[in-house]
Amino acid sequence: MAVSSETDWVSRFADEVIAEAERRAPGKTIVCASGLSPSGPIHLGNLREVMTPHLVADEIRRRGYECVHVLSWDDYDRFRKVPAGIDPAWAEHIGKPLTSVPAPPGSPYASWAEHFKAPMIAALAEMGIEFHGISQTERYTSGAYREQILFAMRERERIDAILAQYRTKDKGASQAPRQTPVDEAEAAAVEGSGAATEDDGSAAAGYFPYKPYCSACERDLTTVTSYDDETTELAYTCVCGFSEVVRLSEHNRGKLVWKVDWPMRWQYEGVVFEPSGVDHSSPGSSFIVGGQIIRDVFGGDQPIGPMYAFVGISGMAKMSSSKGGVPTPADALEIMEAPLLRWLYARRKPNQSFKIAFDQEIQRLYDEWDALARKVADGTALPADLAAHARAIGTAAGPLPTTPRPVPYRTLASVVDVAAGDPEQTLRILRDLDPADPIESLDETRPRLDRATHWVTTQVPVEQRTRVRDEPDAELLASLGDAERESLRLLLEGIDEHWSLEALTTLVYSVPKLRAGLPADAKPTPELKVAQREFFALLYRLLVGRDTGPRLPTLLLAVGAGRVRKLLDA
Ligand SMILES: [Zn+2]
Repeated sequence: MAVSSETDWVSRFADEVIAEAERRAPGKTIVCASGLSPSGPIHLGNLREVMTPHLVADEIRRRGYECVHVLSWDDYDRFRKVPAGIDPAWAEHIGKPLTSVPAPPGSPYASWAEHFKAPMIAALAEMGIEFHGISQTERYTSGAYREQILFAMRERERIDAILAQYRTKDKGASQAPRQTPVDEAEAAAVEGSGAATEDDGSAAAGYFPYKPYCSACERDLTTVTSYDDETTELAYTCVCGFSEVVRLSEHNRGKLVWKVDWPMRWQYEGVVFEPSGVDHSSPGSSFIVGGQIIRDVFGGDQPIGPMYAFVGISGMAKMSSSKGGVPTPADALEIMEAPLLRWLYARRKPNQSFKIAFDQEIQRLYDEWDALARKVADGTALPADLAAHARAIGTAAGPLPTTPRPVPYRTLASVVDVAAGDPEQTLRILRDLDPADPIESLDETRPRLDRATHWVTTQVPVEQRTRVRDEPDAELLASLGDAERESLRLLLEGIDEHWSLEALTTLVYSVPKLRAGLPADAKPTPELKVAQREFFALLYRLLVGRDTGPRLPTLLLAVGAGRVRKLLDA
């Protein structure tokens, strides 16, 4: 059941993680982990935080080991800022846990955190990602970490000493957990999340790794003023004027600072694998400091934690600006199938950056994906490519849904474009693509057809869409010379017996050959190529009033024989 390849990065990490888990505690369920902060829309770039451990955990399961992928929702983090487009009145909630902030106006969800978790959970399900979600709010407020918190408070001087080493090395030692900005738009989205500028626990009265949320105003604008190890009594004041003394042995409204919180959770969950963004490898970063804290304070082991590189986006249309111009995994899944999205992550090592295409590039990406599927089918795929393909199309739990008739994405996009989304037209054109084995129902081409439709309607600018002429371009037709008329005549003469994608391809390329007195299967010469280009440009002008358009055979099929005759009849 394991993907049989020693050559792909997922297999190598799985080897390493299994060996480390066996060293620590043979036979125990292996824990891989991710963390996400639902402080706003969860960016597509952050999907790598989940995909990297998912792929490794999935390979471990394929090998027959018990493995759990823990996804920590950092929903007990503070609400940092009101994103653009949200009622500025939400500023009154800054400093509260994300689960205590009301959801944006109009949301059906109970809190800010739930509102932004929900679409991510749906996207992860569609991608076949199996995980055990943990709400940090639930953990902290139920007292699950009580022992760990009391321990960290007892050990606060040692923790402070470790942090101090890095404070002098790197003044900007506090960094956002797990978030790795890719570009300006993402940076804007990420800024509001995690522990980007969270203080590490230093206060005038000493160092305290625990920060209470105020009992009166719920915000974390609190300062610990004293702590007693014997009684666990902790005194704090808040900027709202409130102050009180609580017993940490029973108090459940506060959390450890990020740099202590993370290693505490590694220890608590027994995490063996958890990657982090590139910014965590610098001196003073959470991963480095956390490693020292778990070893020297908690007496545990740091996870195997590769850093992963940025994932960028190419060509996201402006339309998503209502969401801050930041595409989410759900946005990607509207224009591409889950296996393709999985494949983008599976085929690249975590330290390689790549871009997810929302522009024309998506068509080339799909061509590449289809070519790989053909190689896999005929047994010529290279081992690493074979492994990436297997990880893309399914998980240890089984295969993901596929499109029964995977018509090339670019063809579907052209058909949808020309048919302007009309289902009857679309089916007529799809049926004609291959008359020997006609497509009888749109469902055979779904869900890929729906993804291509969504891409055309949301990502292709209106001025780039194809508009077939209603009436012939009489002026242009009247100006044509004999050679051009003869070419059009040869084409129209042949279309009926060439009415399929393949035959029309042959026909459009052969017309200039026949005109030059060459056989239809003649090898192209430079002169011939010029003649073909000119002929194609003429056809585009007559059919769609421009010099370019969808591939001609697809366009001809889409326009339909009758209308082609009407528009090309010189
Ligand atoms: Zn307060």
